Amino acid sequence: MARFTGNVCKLCRREGMKLFLKGQRCFTEKCAVHRRNYPPGEHSHRRGKISEYGIQLREKQKLKRIYGVLERQFRLYFQEAERLPGNTGANLLSLLERRLDNVVLSAGFALSRNHARQLINHGHFRVNGRKVDIASFQLRTGDEVSPAEKERPRKMVQSALEVNASMRIPNWLEISREKMTARVASLPTREDIPHPIQEQLIVELCSK
Ligand code: SF4
Repeated sequence: MARFTGNVCKLCRREGMKLFLKGQRCFTEKCAVHRRNYPPGEHSHRRGKISEYGIQLREKQKLKRIYGVLERQFRLYFQEAERLPGNTGANLLSLLERRLDNVVLSAGFALSRNHARQLINHGHFRVNGRKVDIASFQLRTGDEVSPAEKERPRKMVQSALEVNASMRIPNWLEISREKMTARVASLPTREDIPHPIQEQLIVELCSK
């Protein structure tokens, strides 16, 4: 699956907010949003008033960048969100939130989203005991995620758990740090998702 491989801090600076793409570094003074809180690029200061379309587009870009999905895949998520009953914006967030890479990150099993993807791509995770090496794998209520019963993945997850010891775990996940398991206890609701995204703007844009 294609992914962005450039300087992720530039994405945060472009959006004017922390997207938390670099793990613990994002919580330190080294964060680029702290040090250079203006968009990247030579003429970034000269950009004028942003249009309504521009505001909607920025909101969509923010969401794509937080979850690390590219446009084509995002379109598929949006189509699925429209098809499901209920609020399309909330459905969209719920689908993104239940990606396997996001659950591995939210459970504290990885240091960043890219790290979570790498661990998954290398076959280090199991869902309900079966190997899954697809980062976008969609989890359902009751699914349980754990590292493979091998020394290397368990060591890597253990050290990530130690680094992430004070991390807040979302309500919809049940974590056992001792057993290294994360269970989807319920579907995430909009209130469970902390990202400051105005999903209605994205729905308006993508429905045009
Ligand atoms: Fe964004 Fe983290 Fe880089 Fe800060 S350190 S700019 S939050 S990716």
